[in-house]
Amino acid sequence: MDVKIRFLGAAKSVTGSKYLLQIDDKKILVDCGMFQGQKELRLRNWDKLPIDPQQIDVVVITHAHIDHTGYLPRLVKDGYSGKIICTAATEDLMQIMLLDAGKLQEEEALFAARKGYSKHENPKPLFTMDDARLVMQLVESHSFNSEFNLLPNVSAKFHIAGHILGAAIVELKITGKEQQKKIVFSGDLGRYDDPIMFDPTALNEADVLLTESTYGDRLNPMTNVEGQLAAIINETYANEGIVVIPAFAVGRTQSLIYYLHRLIESKKIPSLPIYVDSPMAISVTNLYEKHGGQHKIKVAETRHELISIFDAPNIHFCNTNESSKALNTMKKPAVIVSASGMATGGRVLHHLYHRLRNENDTVLFAGYQAEGSRGRDILEGEKNIKIFGEDVPVRCKVREVHGLSAHADQSELLRWLSNFKKAPKTTFIVHGEEATAIAFSKIIQQKLNWSTTIPEYLQSVELFSGI
Ligand SMILES: [Zn+2]
Repeated sequence: MDVKIRFLGAAKSVTGSKYLLQIDDKKILVDCGMFQGQKELRLRNWDKLPIDPQQIDVVVITHAHIDHTGYLPRLVKDGYSGKIICTAATEDLMQIMLLDAGKLQEEEALFAARKGYSKHENPKPLFTMDDARLVMQLVESHSFNSEFNLLPNVSAKFHIAGHILGAAIVELKITGKEQQKKIVFSGDLGRYDDPIMFDPTALNEADVLLTESTYGDRLNPMTNVEGQLAAIINETYANEGIVVIPAFAVGRTQSLIYYLHRLIESKKIPSLPIYVDSPMAISVTNLYEKHGGQHKIKVAETRHELISIFDAPNIHFCNTNESSKALNTMKKPAVIVSASGMATGGRVLHHLYHRLRNENDTVLFAGYQAEGSRGRDILEGEKNIKIFGEDVPVRCKVREVHGLSAHADQSELLRWLSNFKKAPKTTFIVHGEEATAIAFSKIIQQKLNWSTTIPEYLQSVELFSGI
């Protein structure tokens, strides 16, 4: 039995995760993400996949983030009809996220056509909501910690990765004639001691390991998230301004609600309204209740009633376009949490369009901003930001809060890696920008004495032969 792997994404970049495993004539695709960020990367979404989707036998998904799932609708449209395997919470999240992404794609194409700012005569969405619905018909979910057959000679097991609801580390076991081999895909790893998500599961054995490296070159202290948030909110409150927080609807929004609720309860910030302007965040919040065993938020007993922190009196969910638009003219101090997290699309664009130009307001970034995203441009001090084809001057305060990430930092990635009893035969550093992957690779060599490989986009590597 011969085993090869090909890196169809998230190689020297953080998006477009797609790893094609070829075991003799069988093909498994692990993750099927969309490229995001720089135009050069985004254009890859339109390239023909170097493999005919009909030739793929099975797809396994680590977690629901679009950079791990957003290419599924194209894959299915282009002929893939096998199973898509993931955890139950990932299935539920994917349903919400892929439909939302399809809707965004449709809206952006329409908007670009109407405003005429696209270079294309007839701008097309990468995929539609209907394409996303077809994906969901192929999904089959499995529980954490239970081994199941993927192909006759390949079994799989999901382990809790932390990160976001349903996120899994994927362990594949390949049984050859002579030997058994284990390949571990870290997926995206969460933080240790996170107030909401569990620690990533310790694994102690792998022949081949693919480890993410998003924050492989930095430390993100978690100690004082509340202090940082309080200082920024109090500063803006004193200016009678509004804080806009671009935040992913999945995970980040719930963490922010958790922290803001605690700050109000402990009177470290004034009791100001928190608007969650993302219909998706409401659906996702419901999933936190449905999959209650997979996170640490417990329903709190207050005034003899059972109240979830998501039902706290200061938290307002904007369910309609009207309630969202009403925020544009709002003058009194408030916090608006809205998606998308890197300001690449979604309702937050409307809020940025209205708030960036106001000296008294603040845009607060609470997460990773990829190269080429609007979020990164604002954070790096661009004076004008293009929104809806218009140049918007940046006069507001731009702030950043550290430590809210859903990603393990360098020390946590190393902590997870150090659970392995011996060095895997091959360790691939993936899901990190090039400089980060190089820095992380060096520290792994130093601290663990493992040899590592940073794969190139589209590179093919032979893993085992004649097993
Ligand atoms: Zn992720």
